[in-house]
Amino acid sequence: MPGTDNNSRNQASRELDAVVIGAGFAGLCALYKFRDVMGMDVQVYETGDGVGGTWYWNRYPGARCDSESFYYCFSFDEDLAQEWEWTGKYPEQPEIERYLNHVADRFDLRRNIQLSTRVTHAKFDDATNRWEIRTEHGECVSARYLVTAVGCLSDANLPDIQGRDSFEGESYHTARWPKGGVDFTGKRVGLIGTGSTGIQATPVIAAAAEHLTVFQRTPNFTVPARHAAFAASDQVEIKKNYSQIFKRTRESPAGFPYFPIDRSTHDVSPEERDEILEGLWEEGGFKFLWGGFSDLLLDPAANEIASEFIRNKIRGIVKDPETAELLCPKCHAYGSKRPPIDTDYYTTFNRDNVSLVDIKTVPIESITPSGLRTADAEYELDVLVFATGFDAMTGSLLKIEIEGSGGQRLADTWAEGPRTFLGIQVAGFPNLFTITGPGSPSVLINMPVAIEQHVDWIADCIQHMNETGKSRVEATVTAQDEWVEHVAEVSQYSLMGRGNSWYVGANIPGKPRVVSPYTGGQPLYRERCEAVANAGYEGMQFGS
Ligand code: NAP
Repeated sequence: MPGTDNNSRNQASRELDAVVIGAGFAGLCALYKFRDVMGMDVQVYETGDGVGGTWYWNRYPGARCDSESFYYCFSFDEDLAQEWEWTGKYPEQPEIERYLNHVADRFDLRRNIQLSTRVTHAKFDDATNRWEIRTEHGECVSARYLVTAVGCLSDANLPDIQGRDSFEGESYHTARWPKGGVDFTGKRVGLIGTGSTGIQATPVIAAAAEHLTVFQRTPNFTVPARHAAFAASDQVEIKKNYSQIFKRTRESPAGFPYFPIDRSTHDVSPEERDEILEGLWEEGGFKFLWGGFSDLLLDPAANEIASEFIRNKIRGIVKDPETAELLCPKCHAYGSKRPPIDTDYYTTFNRDNVSLVDIKTVPIESITPSGLRTADAEYELDVLVFATGFDAMTGSLLKIEIEGSGGQRLADTWAEGPRTFLGIQVAGFPNLFTITGPGSPSVLINMPVAIEQHVDWIADCIQHMNETGKSRVEATVTAQDEWVEHVAEVSQYSLMGRGNSWYVGANIPGKPRVVSPYTGGQPLYRERCEAVANAGYEGMQFGS
């Protein structure tokens, strides 16, 4: 059995204060807060054989964070922030994995983390107000609180393409990449998917493979990252300003230490507008979305101006006009799908060893033992890469058989789409807390900031229960209904819910179409969370 060195392995029926599922950013943060700050008895279970979550699994070529390193990290410990040295602007996967391992060691977190252990079942007992949690190895523990830290983008989506398993070459999903890497030398590689992942992987695979064929269903807008290594003076400047940087991440709409500019696209002349967009393109990164104009996600006409600006960049970069036009998104607005940022994506299509296949017009018919077949061609491949995304927001939660009060199943309760109160609690599922759950800003803001806010809020709620002698808490149906309605209403003002993306579950056949992340921005969301807590957890009911 894997992980037998872990201390809880032989204690089949431990009584714990909390079980945390997942040892990525969220699980590590929760363990630290609950154990070291609150003094709780906590056990973390993690499927992977290392800590890191997203940054453990996504080790595909080119995997790099799209948020800048110096604020894509924990703020809960000043010394941690001061001692860790980020090497550059956008850290690669190994660097973030190293950082999270450092956090696990620095705070001695590993002694309460059981690796290589998937939680399969969790059942709430109304008589004891405790959760009974079972793992794939048959262990069973009891905990007052069940805290999910399973990630929003962690349940890999391997599309059900006819003949998929018949392929005799190597095939990999980007989120289940082998630790030793993949040698593409002299190989014909096919890559399906042009989301953030495919866009990061394409240039790196192209540089190594004999030939790369990118199978594109929907073209995507991407803006250059403009990654750069930090100079020693950058490090000094960042560390000097850390308290201010972290404060700003908690106050800004997207959890970055920057505030969006308050200027409409229509406030300036076309020449000025182009100059601003050009400046943002040169600067690179997410700033293109919010650093120039405030209406790109609100006004389709404003959005179209930015969208056309990017299309013209593609037409300027990609030498073959037919390929350039294929790469130009025409059916969705910029930012209506999560915008990728890239390093050399479009220029990669100028390489002789790269070709683009439009599978929107001529869909994939099947995967064959030797490659892939579309309606009009056969592609012989040695390696097939699935950069096909995730069953986002709910996939990993629903993989666990969760039974709440009275035996109701979370999968049934959410059959028409997820329903939560603040994205943290679910009516009918007492003492369950979902870190960055659906209905919270989660993926729309800088994740470590979203995670720390949730962990602090949950800890305060538990503290409140300790002080008032309560052993059971759950959202009321009324408060949950109101929140779900508010999330849906706010989403109507944004273009984010209008693309066929994982934001709305459109990427998974049969999944209910619901805008899962809260699009109202961090300040409004935090204000609401604080108001609930300050009013004695209004909208939540307590029991003993
Ligand atoms: P994604 O955005 O969902 O993209 C999946 C791609 O696969 C899309 O191009 C999709 O086409 C295609 N696809 C899916 N099923 C298909 C099928 N059956 N046939 C053909 N094509 C298919 O997934 P992702 O690129 O892994 O990114 C997911 C999210 O992870 C990102 O949006 C981002 O939030 C996060 N991420 C972050 C980073 C970072 O910060 N560095 C990096 C990577 C990912 P359609 O568009 O037509 O559905």
